[in-house]
Amino acid sequence: MADKAVTPHPLVEPGLWVERIGDRVFPERLPALFLDRDGTINVDTGYPDDPADIVLRPEILPVIRTTNLAGLPAIIVSNQSGIARGYFGWPEFAAVNARLLALLEAEQCRIDIVLACAYHSSGTGELAIGDHPMRKPNPGMLLRARDLLGVDIGRSIIVGDKADDMEAGRRAGLVEGWLVGGRFNKKAPDGSFTTRKLMTGNDYRRLCDVIAGLGVA
Ligand SMILES: [Mg+2]
Repeated sequence: MADKAVTPHPLVEPGLWVERIGDRVFPERLPALFLDRDGTINVDTGYPDDPADIVLRPEILPVIRTTNLAGLPAIIVSNQSGIARGYFGWPEFAAVNARLLALLEAEQCRIDIVLACAYHSSGTGELAIGDHPMRKPNPGMLLRARDLLGVDIGRSIIVGDKADDMEAGRRAGLVEGWLVGGRFNKKAPDGSFTTRKLMTGNDYRRLCDVIAGLGVA
């Protein structure tokens, strides 16, 4: 019999999903690859809530594989305001997430942690929190993963398709992010963070080379 108090989902608070995948153990102080999900790993269909709609972006697969082969953690950090907005719930997120991980697994791509933040100012109830520390562009999800795996944040990289992904990386203390669809490399005015373009096959190959160079394997 289902006990209502027992959630099947790895929620550490009402609007924050933190799921450790697999049992790979990492030495302390490794850099990590942080990955946005929608529009970065999978084609963004706009608040995807149906596992059948999930299509991987083929360009990202070598990036994740290179991360795995280099022995570095691969971490998904995903804003999911569709939950706060009432478009879908955590069960639908769980189904989409499971499908995404299965599709990646079939491509020999492993993810080590999934974090998702449901908070949004246009939400209702306990999820109606604007500018939540876990919601990108705030760095909360990245810092949480850093603490879980002892990641060296200063050498880590984020890949995303939105300026908010890059900003979350900058605020977390990363020195560079790769922007899906970005056409120019751009340095922050204070020089602390570089947004790199991720458009052509060459850009993706360059990213793989950078990740391989960070690896210990
Ligand atoms: Mg995105």
